[in-house]
Amino acid sequence: MRITALAGGVGGARFLRGLLHHLAGWPDGPHSLTVIGNTGDDITLFGLRVCPDLDTLLYTFGGGIHESQGWGRADETFAVQGELAAYGVGPQWFGLGDRDFGTHIARSQWLGQGMTLSEVTRRLAGRWGLPAGGVTLLPMTDTPVETHVVVDDGDGERAIHFQQWWVQHQAALPAKRFVVAGLNKAVAAPGVLDAIRTADLVVLPPSNPVVSIGIILSVPGVRDALRGTQAPVVGVSPLVGGAPVRGHADACLSAIGVPVTPDGVAGLYADFLDGWLVDKADEAAMAGAQIAVRAIPLLMTDVNAAAEMASEAIELGLSLRA
Ligand code: GDP
Ligand code: CA
Repeated sequence: MRITALAGGVGGARFLRGLLHHLAGWPDGPHSLTVIGNTGDDITLFGLRVCPDLDTLLYTFGGGIHESQGWGRADETFAVQGELAAYGVGPQWFGLGDRDFGTHIARSQWLGQGMTLSEVTRRLAGRWGLPAGGVTLLPMTDTPVETHVVVDDGDGERAIHFQQWWVQHQAALPAKRFVVAGLNKAVAAPGVLDAIRTADLVVLPPSNPVVSIGIILSVPGVRDALRGTQAPVVGVSPLVGGAPVRGHADACLSAIGVPVTPDGVAGLYADFLDGWLVDKADEAAMAGAQIAVRAIPLLMTDVNAAAEMASEAIELGLSLRA
């Protein structure tokens, strides 16, 4: 079975690690998983290109992730950031550990030598043992793009980088809308549209529907590929009991005028979504839905819990294919 997933960082990575765990124990393999990662979160810091969502996916699949934090490296130290602070060099609000710096230096060096982000990501993935397990990680586009947030805190509208809004301001500045700088020139990275079109199953993990999945959907051709694919498209709600499990998806949804409900999130995918997994606590909120809905526990407390969710997503998808 060929599975294709669209993913942001922590929510996507944890779910997909569970999916890989589940597939490893499945009969009639080998299976493959192609992950299309969000690059709207990317930012240049200290002259280095940082791709937070791609790195979270790589570290999680490769066993290098800081488990409780969900992002960054395990066993991390912060000597470089401390030295930068001593020189008065910022920003200091974006945490970059020494091991993590190694990734960004390698990436920036290769990009500087003229490699595409796809090629660079393949190289970084090699270090983490991919494509073992049949996993391929693709950036959504090789074109540098950045999600910006138009905010208005009383002095009129201005746009700031997504990371500044999310990390520095903790999404507390009132957001008006999200814009993806560079999108007008962006094309889907090699393999992205084919992976959607030729999949046996397309999965939307419980990633942020606006600033993770929504940004991938804005890449030209992606939405059309999802509408046109023969594969069932199954999504997993990022809300449990009507609220995000972590992060500020509620602020993102409110900014674009979408209710913070599983129904509201599913509505963002209405033109291509076939099946929708919601938490037991949200079952009533989906009564009367037009798509196939299954209500199960959706808390990824550990790898096994995520694997169980993935198994339900696959079953729902296969039932829709049949
Ligand atoms: P980010 O890029 O690191 O913010 O990660 P993603 O965009 O991939 O995922 C963020 C989303 O994951 C948030 O909206 C969370 O609500 C969701 N999420 C995190 N943990 C869980 C969980 O255990 N269960 C569910 N259903 N959603 C989760
Ligand atoms: Ca992200």
